[in-house]
Formats: sequence, structure tokens, C-alpha cells
Amino acid sequence: MSIIDKFGSMVGSEALQDPKKARNLLLAGYHLQEARLLLAPDKELPPSGRYAARVVMKNIIQALAKPENAAMVSIFVPGELLTAAGLTPYSVEALSCFMAGTKCEQSFLRKTEEEGFPETMCSYHRVFLGAALTGLLPKPKCMIYTNLACDGNMMTFPYLRETYGIPGFYIDVPYEKNQEAIQYVAGQLREMKRFLEEMTGKMISEEAVQAAVSNSKKAAANYQQQLALRKTHDPSTTLTNELYAIFMCHLLSGSETAVKYTQMLLDDVKKAPRSEGLHVLWMHIMPFLQEPVKEVFNYSKDIHISACDFVADGFREMHASDPYEAMAEKMVNCIYNGAVDQRIQLAEDLENLTGADGGILFAHWGCKGTIGASSLIKTSLEKAGLPTMILDGDGCNPANTSDGQVSTRLQAFMEMLQKNKEEQRS
Ligand code: SF4
Repeated sequence: MSIIDKFGSMVGSEALQDPKKARNLLLAGYHLQEARLLLAPDKELPPSGRYAARVVMKNIIQALAKPENAAMVSIFVPGELLTAAGLTPYSVEALSCFMAGTKCEQSFLRKTEEEGFPETMCSYHRVFLGAALTGLLPKPKCMIYTNLACDGNMMTFPYLRETYGIPGFYIDVPYEKNQEAIQYVAGQLREMKRFLEEMTGKMISEEAVQAAVSNSKKAAANYQQQLALRKTHDPSTTLTNELYAIFMCHLLSGSETAVKYTQMLLDDVKKAPRSEGLHVLWMHIMPFLQEPVKEVFNYSKDIHISACDFVADGFREMHASDPYEAMAEKMVNCIYNGAVDQRIQLAEDLENLTGADGGILFAHWGCKGTIGASSLIKTSLEKAGLPTMILDGDGCNPANTSDGQVSTRLQAFMEMLQKNKEEQRS
């Protein structure tokens, strides 16, 4: 048993007896990790990766240590308004990834099962619910959630809102993508600002909202600029590093931090050389704990993740000059909203932009939206010339997937891509 395994099992069992003590233990571990990231950063990652690791760690520490200043959110809630309100947002995915990374997720999965939640529910939600139900997760100032993309949200958030009496705000995003939908969502975001003022007891100036949205526009411009360079530049990365980018473009959107991250990423990409290896377009979330996937991608000089659709969508350009309409535009036009065509279109655009040799769609356990769309995405991309693999797995509970099977399928796919590439060259 590794030290992390022992630590995780201590936190998990303590959470069932004395959740406050378990939280303090977890925080002590996270503070140590924060110091390690500062004093002995991962030298194999470029500066943007090291920066993202520190920022995300700090965000989780703040959320757990100062719940009176934190908001529990679903990942697609506009971070810009939370930035303007000065609250620390934390999402189901972010928190559960940290729990799983600390190896204490099994206690929380069991707790959720005891409460009667189905095993077929997304494991990010089950770990999150378990952590909240044991009391390890402290009661936040408020919660904000949306129906966008994730059916799990509509179970987790209302349940916790009612059980713990957490003040909540819900954003309804229509399925249709049109101007009427944008206006409808923008109206709700104006109400969300008033809700946040009520929660914090502080006024949020329109200038602060505008500044946060302009930060998001700057971050999106930097991100799109680096994407355009990916055909000829391959910075070193890991699955965890790519996952942090998802938190940067959603939870931390609108912050100076997100702008700084994208500027650093752009600089890193400019400096990175081109590799002759394989280039992969990643779709959906990253199974950052699954050993055979880590072995293939982490720090690889031969196989590169050139783009991820989740991140590219999160750093999408916002056009409206009104800040509420700009945020609403990002939500309504999100690839996870509405018909699957837009997900396919974005994947094709990213393939063309980055010159990807193949695509991997991660079908995370319990994610009905992605699993349901996976066959159509694969067929459409292959028709357009991009070999695509559906990788079934569990991003938050690696014990739920067979490493052997994942390894065999992944290796076979990579060999096929390599063969295609050699044939094209000859
Ligand atoms: S993986 Fe799917 S179901 Fe799970 S939190 Fe993400 S969008 Fe929701």
C-alpha cells in the first residue's frame, strides 16, 4: 500500500466517524502538496502546467477551508459572476477528482450507495454526494447549478439543497440554440448577480462583471491562438494537466488567473518543438488515474494530446458586447447543449486545426449524454476521415475499469494510427 493509499483510507474511514477531523487531515495533506508544488514543481511540465497545478490546488484548499466564502457549482455555471462576487467556486468534477486523487473515494461511493443512489449514476456525482453526506464537505455559502449538459446535476444539487438547506440558484438553459434562448439565459444571469449580492451582502458593480467577461474574452483569444499553433508545436503534458485546463476555462473563467494561464500556455506552445509522433484529439473528460492511459500519454514524446473538445469549448469566443449576453452565449452554444452535431463539428474543426491522427472519446461511466452520443460521434468522425476510438472507463473510480482491457484496446488503436501514418508517409 502506498503512502497515498494509506492516507486516503485514513481520511475515508475518519470521515464516517468525525468528518471535521477528516477534513482537517485532508487539508493538512493538501497544504503539504501545495508546498511541494511550489518548492519542487514537476520539471517535466512547462510553466503553464506547473502554474495550473498550483492554482487548482489552492482553489480546492480555499473551498474546504473557507466554506463561508465558497460556492458549490456545476461546472458550466459562469465563473465570471463568481469571480466578480469574490467567491471560490468548486464543482462536482473538481472536488471528486481530488478525492479520487487522494484515494479516499471508495468510502464516499459506499456512503452514496447506502443512501439509495443508483450505481449507474456518474461517479463524479456519487463521490461528491458521499463527501457531502458524511459531512467531510462543509456547507458552502450557496450553490448554483444548471441543467446544461449533465443530468446528474438535477439529482445532486436539488438533493443537497433540500437536505442541508443550502441557498441555491438554478439556471435553466433551453435545448434550442437561438437568440431567444440567449436572452432568456441572460435574464437569469442578471438575477444570479442579485442572488450573489444577497448571499455575500456586497454589491457587485457592473464594471466588475464587465471586467470578468473581458478577461474571459482575452483568455479565449490566447487559447485559440495556441490551438492554431498545435500543428507544429507539441508541449509536454499529462492527463491531469489537461484536466486542470477544464477547471481554468469554467470554474476560474473571468479571473486574471485564467488569463495568465492562457498567456503562459501560448508562450509554452510557441517554444515547444514539433514531434514526429502521433497526435490525438481527446474528447470529453480525462481518466487521469487510469494507469494504462497515463502510461500512453503522460510526458510522452511520441504521442500527444493536441486538443481537447471540452477545453476548446470552454475557451470559446464570446461575441456579445453585453456581458450577460456574452456569458449566456457561452452556455447556450456549449457543445454539450442541444443536438450532437455541434460536438461532431467542433471535433472536425479541431482535427483540421491541429492535424490530429486520431480521436479518443472517453465514455465515462454513468455519463448518459456522452455514452448515448458516442456511436454517432465515432461514425461521423470516421466518415470524415478521423479514426476514432470510444474508450469506456471511469474517470473517478479507476477500480471500476479493467486496466488490462483498457491497455489492450488503447495499444491496438495507437498501433493502427501509427500504421496509417506510416502508410501516408510512404
Ligand atoms: S461526466 Fe457526464 S454525468 Fe458526470 S459530471 Fe460530467 S457531464 Fe455530468
